Amino acid sequence: MTPVLPLIKKQFITTQYNAPEHFQVYTERQIDKIEALKQLSEAQRFEMKVVANVLPFRVNRYVIDNLINWQNVPEDPIFQLVFPQKGMLSDEDYNQMASVLRSTNDRSVILKNANEIRLRLNPHPAEQQSLNVPYEDNEPVEGIQHKYRETVLFFPGQRQVCHSFCSFCFRWAQFIGDKSLRFSNTEAQKLHQYLAKYKSISDLLITGGDPMVMKTDHLVAYLEPLLRPEFDHVQTIRIGTKSLSFWPQRYVSDKDSAQLLLLLERMVKAGKHVAIMAHFNHWQEMSTPIVCEAISRLRASGVVIRTQSPLLNHINNDPDVWARMWREQVRLGLVPYYMFVERDTGARRYFEVPLARAWEVYREALKRVSGLGRTARGPSMSAGPGKVEIQGVSEINGEQVFVLRFLQARNPDWVQRPFFARFDPEATWLDHLKPAFGEEKFFFQDEYDAMRNKQVSPRVYE
Ligand SMILES: *Cc1c(COP(=O)(O)O)cnc(C)c1O
Repeated sequence: MTPVLPLIKKQFITTQYNAPEHFQVYTERQIDKIEALKQLSEAQRFEMKVVANVLPFRVNRYVIDNLINWQNVPEDPIFQLVFPQKGMLSDEDYNQMASVLRSTNDRSVILKNANEIRLRLNPHPAEQQSLNVPYEDNEPVEGIQHKYRETVLFFPGQRQVCHSFCSFCFRWAQFIGDKSLRFSNTEAQKLHQYLAKYKSISDLLITGGDPMVMKTDHLVAYLEPLLRPEFDHVQTIRIGTKSLSFWPQRYVSDKDSAQLLLLLERMVKAGKHVAIMAHFNHWQEMSTPIVCEAISRLRASGVVIRTQSPLLNHINNDPDVWARMWREQVRLGLVPYYMFVERDTGARRYFEVPLARAWEVYREALKRVSGLGRTARGPSMSAGPGKVEIQGVSEINGEQVFVLRFLQARNPDWVQRPFFARFDPEATWLDHLKPAFGEEKFFFQDEYDAMRNKQVSPRVYE
């Protein structure tokens, strides 16, 4: 192939990827068509179908053929990352769906039961719909969440899907086809109007779904106008994506790969900081030649690739896995950014890890890498009031406590103030924690309650 990107240094381009690769995907109706699953028993495949009728399931061939070690199934971390497991539902919910599937093929009955179960799985954690969506002229601005003063999240309506689905996805409710639960916005214009109006916004974070599922043409429509002077305050464009893991071909051999890289390069040359927020959960996802090629090409376009992942039981609940992942990322020129705590939604029961353990994994992993690998902050809970980091476990005046701080908050003034919760070895989320030292509430509680009662958007802090 002739190098499609003249601006990329020649040595970054290898010639082995010369034809677009066919993207083939399987969903819950096609579980029996996945050749690799034939090594499992009928009963195991039935379990998968039960779960996949409640939680979204979608996997593509690249993941099946390249990222999973099939000798190590079901323990393989990437198998756990994409394929449904029985333990993802409670026994009660599992049994309800299993008996429905055994007794009927009627889609409407299956769907009715699925929806009942889904509502029990906290589909919209952290007040995302009630508190994060801004209002303009008394109308919600669809497709936008504006929780923190500097950063706007945008959910492009063009494509609210991913190349494969993560079994732990906290945005799973978007993918189950119920429109009222779905976030989307086909109107690039509305986004641009909103951004132009609020000069405190320095960061646009395009998320989804996976924005990189979109054709480059659509991305151009969202991004290119941001080069106009009225958007000078929008310094940084972040794109949240799992594509480096699930479909690195996006940057290498798709029909519009070159245009995509050129778009990113154009944004960078025009003075924007473009950050690819790459979602990697395990070093195994960074082990194929094509992901390395994709990373080279992206970096040559001038973007910065930062990485983030939740800490997940069955996938990466091991400091060695994180240390190796961060070392590998630094080697490839990526910047570790966040370690998240698995959110209180969906299949959390299967993936959650006690906060005390999360801190231990973080600390142990950090100890094993050089300073350049220690740029990931966390473990961080994206909770209603903000991103709360577990800084550690300590003893103060004879009381064992968690030391906490906000990395990001609905009120910017809450950020970086240490606060303390009673140590609880079982707690897995902020709402399990009680203030230490016999105090009644955390310092932010009254103000946060007031925001919830009044539905105040963060713009009040301008
Ligand atoms: C994490 C997050 C952001 C980005 O926060 P940074 O601290 O700038 O990385 C923005 N909005 C929401 C809703 C978030 O959860």
